[in-house]
Amino acid sequence: MDNFPIFLRLRGEKVLLIGGGGVAERKLRLLLKAGAQVDVVATELNDAVKQMLPDPSWHIAQQYETELLTTPYRIIIAATDDGELNQRVAHDAGQRNIPVNVVDDPKHCSFIFPSILDRSPLLLAVSSGGEAPVLARQTRARLETFVPAAWGDLAQLTSRYRETVKSRLPEKLRRRFWEEVCEGPIGEQMLAGRKSEAEQALLDLLNAYSQDQKYQKGEVWLVGAGPGDPDLLTFRALRLMQNCDVVLYDRLVAPAVMELVRRDADRIYVGKKEAEHVVPQDEINQMLIDLAKEGKRVLRLKGGDPFIFGRGGEEIDRLAENDIPFQVVPGITSASGCSSYAGIPLTHRDYAQSCQFVTGHMKDDVLDLEWQELARPAHTVVFYMGLNSLPEISKQLMAHGAPESRPVALVERGTTSQQRVVTGTLADIAETVIEENVKSPALIIVGDVVELRSRLAWFGQ
Ligand code: SAH
Repeated sequence: MDNFPIFLRLRGEKVLLIGGGGVAERKLRLLLKAGAQVDVVATELNDAVKQMLPDPSWHIAQQYETELLTTPYRIIIAATDDGELNQRVAHDAGQRNIPVNVVDDPKHCSFIFPSILDRSPLLLAVSSGGEAPVLARQTRARLETFVPAAWGDLAQLTSRYRETVKSRLPEKLRRRFWEEVCEGPIGEQMLAGRKSEAEQALLDLLNAYSQDQKYQKGEVWLVGAGPGDPDLLTFRALRLMQNCDVVLYDRLVAPAVMELVRRDADRIYVGKKEAEHVVPQDEINQMLIDLAKEGKRVLRLKGGDPFIFGRGGEEIDRLAENDIPFQVVPGITSASGCSSYAGIPLTHRDYAQSCQFVTGHMKDDVLDLEWQELARPAHTVVFYMGLNSLPEISKQLMAHGAPESRPVALVERGTTSQQRVVTGTLADIAETVIEENVKSPALIIVGDVVELRSRLAWFGQ
């Protein structure tokens, strides 16, 4: 990050603007909106600037002189078409540690103007640090379509009731209350221009929150984070990720996905690697219960889909026993994610009519599976947690009738930028995997469909 974004309060503050033409005019308009007291220095003022100035005395001088900086200006803006003069201003300001902006000259700026979207009190600012102004403006233009103009009204409504809500609701309920106001029917009414109905609904909701026990309770959201690529999250997952008070996540949840969790949420890493559970499952179950009982909204974030080899079922079973409300959000399981990103359709009319997901995790060094069924032709088998048992998997499949030549693929860190796919046959894959030093997490796909990869691989190619 080359520039630190802040929003500066300028109401009633002194600002020096040098220049009186079109560029200065645009800056002046913004400064006046923000309530600044602007001293303008310019040989000439264009008509718009003249009209905008609340009083002619704001035009304090024709020529810029260093002495002007004895006034304690909050910021200085050099907006003349005289490059040398602009640089002199920047130099003088720099010496006095006053933030300075030289319009269209990032090299001489100590601060820059972002592209803004004003829905006051909601304000969105976008910047490329002056490196790609067109892209910044385009981003802003896109935001324009996302952020309806009426959000300004909604923001004003929340601003009016902030103090009342603060005095009536405990802190842990406030954010939840405001989210319900903004995301639910009240927000919709506001956007539809029904302001007084929205206001009444807000007051009703506030009463409900302060009286009804149901709002005081916490809950757990069991959410599938998908196999790694954050683009594969569902909208619901993303929304809950941004609303939670605390998140419990394991090793399989990709860092890029964690980036999207609300910044202020507490983060609890509960590890989980086959056979090396950082926090034992019982303890995780208990933590979920305890946190929810404290009234928190707990995000239980799991790699892939929580109901596929994720022990999600056990976790919510305990929640149900303890009468804790919960919801489950499916995620893209690694079999779907990895097969798509590896160019291996799990079924295909010419190669496989069925597909099975099985765990390759050994219990007491044994892999107790229906091998006969797994080895049958025109069938795809996906092994989760099978890296360590791969030699046993290939041996058993061949012993139960699968040909040595049946293709096998290993997808390591599927769907991420580090995805690697290693292919072979039942006869040689165990050896290849050692040679290639394949690491967990990796998914094993066995079946003739693997052959399609030679034509259909697309990701990272
Ligand atoms: N609930 C998860 C699976 C948990 S079991 C899901 O639906 O995907 C853990 C196993 O999933 C790992 O041992 C590995 O086999 C597989 N896995 C998860 N993410 C993966 C990824 N990005 N790439 C390859 N395999 C992955």
